[in-house]
Amino acid sequence: MPATRTLCNFVNNQAAPVSGNETLDVTAPHTGQIIAQVPLSLSDDVDVAVAAAAKAWPAWAALTVNARSAKMMALHGLLTAHTAELVDLIVSEHGKTRSEAMGDVGKGLETLAYAAGAGAVGAGQATYVSGGVLCRMDRAPLGVVASIVPFNFPFMVPFWTLPLALAMGNTCVLKPSEKVPLTMTRVAELAASVLPPGVLNLVHGSGAVAQALIDHPGVAAVTFVGSSPVAESVHARATAGGKRVLALGGAKNHLVALPDCDLEMTARDIVASFTGCAGQRCMAASVLLVVGEQPALIARVVELASALVPGSDGPLAMGPVIDATAVARIGAAVRNAAESGADILLDGHALTTQFAVRQAELGGFWVGPSVIRHHSPDDRALHEEIFGPVLSVLHCADAHEALAIENASAFGNAACVYTASGAAAEFFAQRFAAAMIGVNVGVPVPREPFSFGGCKRSRFGSSDITGDAAIEFFSTRRKITTKWSVPTDQSWMS
Ligand code: NAD
Repeated sequence: MPATRTLCNFVNNQAAPVSGNETLDVTAPHTGQIIAQVPLSLSDDVDVAVAAAAKAWPAWAALTVNARSAKMMALHGLLTAHTAELVDLIVSEHGKTRSEAMGDVGKGLETLAYAAGAGAVGAGQATYVSGGVLCRMDRAPLGVVASIVPFNFPFMVPFWTLPLALAMGNTCVLKPSEKVPLTMTRVAELAASVLPPGVLNLVHGSGAVAQALIDHPGVAAVTFVGSSPVAESVHARATAGGKRVLALGGAKNHLVALPDCDLEMTARDIVASFTGCAGQRCMAASVLLVVGEQPALIARVVELASALVPGSDGPLAMGPVIDATAVARIGAAVRNAAESGADILLDGHALTTQFAVRQAELGGFWVGPSVIRHHSPDDRALHEEIFGPVLSVLHCADAHEALAIENASAFGNAACVYTASGAAAEFFAQRFAAAMIGVNVGVPVPREPFSFGGCKRSRFGSSDITGDAAIEFFSTRRKITTKWSVPTDQSWMS
């Protein structure tokens, strides 16, 4: 086996050795081959990274917002020029198709572009509140912000948290996912030519190092994106430490197909939503609530999903899932549904699929799409996050029943309705218990300048992670009241 690279942390714009010797293998999901080793940092390494960020903070915070925005703009240009290289890294360490990896980079660059406009969108306000008395609001940065991110978007999710945190005058310590550490390591290397030392630092490792970062007294605020149980624990831990924290969790997104929906558009969007990124998106449709029978819609969904092929390129390609644990979890969910009496309309684990053939030939973690028709609303697969290319279908008698099922979900990330009726769309849009709502859009992704967050078990903490709400999260408002002359009129402001 060829020698693989062992990654380093990145602190003060240079590779930083890690104090411990333990590493984890980073595997290519296409083949299961080891492509790198990621170090498991210790709390000493967290101390080094936080100290660098804390040291860099006063000078970074003292820059004007326009000066920091200019750095974001320069970073945008640099990363745009390196898109092809970043896409290659994402494809190899995550397994996304090439076009999905392009989307990962493109969406991350969009938040970076928004942060480059922080001078305008984060501006304060001023007004005379009484004779000669001026109140002005400005925004102060928080200090060192820790960012802990999941595996499923190696570039985009770190770019939800880093650019605005930096543009608002904070310095950052990022802990990438140990499953996909290569992309952000390369970003940190590139960013070193744009950002002053210590402004963006990176520590590698798993949950233990994330906890050391959350607990570190030098960290003022924590952002987290990942599964709900971990998000809940991160929120509790950071709150107990007196920190500002926003922790986004998992999802179970519902998609309602009304009888008047456009069959072809709806079927295509459903399949794109539940199979895109091999179902490993927090915005993926996982429960299809079909109002009425609509056999033609379900048949078309199965037909389109059956046509997908394992691979990285081409309109019908679907990539592998992240690792063997994911393969086992997805298989167990489908088997459990079958044991509960559901019909498996398409079995992504069947040995006859091209995915099974690919797995046998190449190794790796290939799972085809599965479509399950449930007969009981209590089936586990309808409630638990599976995080793979699995669609659970449930028939509902009417719109009210569909809405009640969606509203009862423990999660509150995305919900979508497919219909030709504006009134029906509005009925659902006003009543869905989710934060990102789609009308004839199966994946209502984050789009700047709109905020992206979640509710119920999909978000722990207030605020959102992008858009104007994130400006609020990454800064503290200050009200400064000034008077420079003796007021001529009656004023209670002495
Ligand atoms: P995960 O929760 O396993 O890990 C996320 C991050 O947390 C990783 O960096 C990991 O090292 C770290 N971590 C693990 N255990 C920890 C602990 N005890 N304390 C602190 N940190 C810990 O999630 P994942 O498998 O990498 O990503 C998939 C999950 O992320 C799914 O549930 C998906 O829905 C969710 N997700 C949510 C959103 C959103 O916007 N809500 C976006 C992307 C992904």
